[in-house]
Amino acid sequence: MTTAGPGSPATTPPSWPHCGQDATPADSVGCRGINVGSYAACLAHLQENDRAAYLAALSPGADIDHRGTPFTSELLGQLLAVLRDPDTGHIHIGDANFEAASLSCDARFDEATFSGDAGFPKATFSAAASSADHRPHGRRGHATSTGK
Ligand SMILES: [Zn+2]
Repeated sequence: MTTAGPGSPATTPPSWPHCGQDATPADSVGCRGINVGSYAACLAHLQENDRAAYLAALSPGADIDHRGTPFTSELLGQLLAVLRDPDTGHIHIGDANFEAASLSCDARFDEATFSGDAGFPKATFSAAASSADHRPHGRRGHATSTGK
């Protein structure tokens, strides 16, 4: 097994057709997520209806390729939900390629069955991948009495 050497500079585009969202002069590569199907965006940056169409076309045992894609736990949950076999309740994935993807650490691959190759080289598992994930903090039920 060979890997493409550690420490490739951030300005090197990935070897797959990538999304390029949020490219800046400092980072001309932008989003490194692989384009989904014939779309020009990765799963994370697809238009919502395109993403829904893509997910609707998947079924348990499907091959998935989401190299370089920045997954939030919500997005990963949506993906895994369509790969869950309704008969067994288990997530069933064919060939999976998550090279250099970023996945939140609560990714539930422990209950996934891979019938093909599962590739996670250089995938990043990070806590709290989604900063948009703010928990609603309800009002504290603490009555303050000033006791005047
Ligand atoms: Zn993207």
